[in-house]
Amino acid sequence: MSFSVSASIKAIKPYEAGKPLSEVEREYGINNAVKLASNENPFGCSPKVAQAVLSKLPQMHRYPEPVPFTLCQKLAEKYHVQMENLVIGNGSDDIIALLAHGFLDPGQEAVMPLPSFLMYEISVKTAKGVPVMVPLKDFSTNLDGLVNAVTPETKLVFVTNPFNPTGAAITKDEFLRFADKLPDNVLIIVDEAYIEFVRNDSVYNALADPLTDPRVVTLRTFSKAYGLAGFRIGYGIMDKTVAEILNRIRQPFNVNTLAQVAAQAALEDTRFLSKTISGTHQGIDFITQQLTQAGFEVLPTQANFLMVDVKTGSREICEKLLRKGVVVRSLASYGYDSFLRINAGTQQENQTCVDAIISVTGK
Ligand SMILES: *Cc1c(COP(=O)(O)O)cnc(C)c1O
Repeated sequence: MSFSVSASIKAIKPYEAGKPLSEVEREYGINNAVKLASNENPFGCSPKVAQAVLSKLPQMHRYPEPVPFTLCQKLAEKYHVQMENLVIGNGSDDIIALLAHGFLDPGQEAVMPLPSFLMYEISVKTAKGVPVMVPLKDFSTNLDGLVNAVTPETKLVFVTNPFNPTGAAITKDEFLRFADKLPDNVLIIVDEAYIEFVRNDSVYNALADPLTDPRVVTLRTFSKAYGLAGFRIGYGIMDKTVAEILNRIRQPFNVNTLAQVAAQAALEDTRFLSKTISGTHQGIDFITQQLTQAGFEVLPTQANFLMVDVKTGSREICEKLLRKGVVVRSLASYGYDSFLRINAGTQQENQTCVDAIISVTGK
């Protein structure tokens, strides 16, 4: 084509999402496929969400609230912060992009683990920044490596806790020592998309204590434990000065009305959340136990997914599983050629998945 695309944009590899169920079913001519590839909530979402959304439908000719007041009030209360500390996004993906655009000048650096959630790299490159990637160490974030990668050009450092795709987590002590070694002018983005599933008390939780470090930006999402992935809503909690920048550059109506009321209803239903968490833990334990017993190595996890070494090409295994109607993620593109990532499903989905893995690997 004759339009010249920005060089930094040309270098972006497209995001590879887990295949939607409808597509898998169409392609493979099957139905009742089991999708455990995108870390979604297998139990759906709170029934209160449907009620809230239905009752809002008659008002959908109106623009959304630019700042969803009731939702923000509830979040502020829950985390003992002020409204001014909050940014609500069209998924936490939205906030990741706002951070890159708000804080990177062309050529400035964002340090992140390798592999990482692909949206970090895509957002940094879109903002004309430079991603600096630090390989994991023993499947965990190499915190010293991240510190050592910081230069005078570094503006952002990303950590994901628990980590996607390995499920490893950073303890509070480790985080505080890490933050201590970072300069004052660097924002530390702590992506806690899976924090609700953590079982180990020593794991760092950025919102457990009052906000004291103005560099720390915590990202949370309604897509995972709350089961609202299709609505697209997440939030960030951060210093007021940082939030003010993000709120200045975001689209005024970045979060649609139905997502706003869905999130509010989901947040109130603590019973559904508890059931999700316990059901997820059961699922993780079941899959771990079954696959370990079948002779596979399963990594310990603090998230709603786990990584398993199937000891052979995981791309081929995924393809064979697809033909059996089971969708899981091959981690070959992350450099883990023989690993799958599987999220906990319902009891029946977990059983189907384990049976299919044992069958296609001939275990
Ligand atoms: C799923 C996920 C998110 C959530 O993204 P949304 O845009 O809120 O759906 C954020 N970070 C990581 C690492 C994730 O895996």
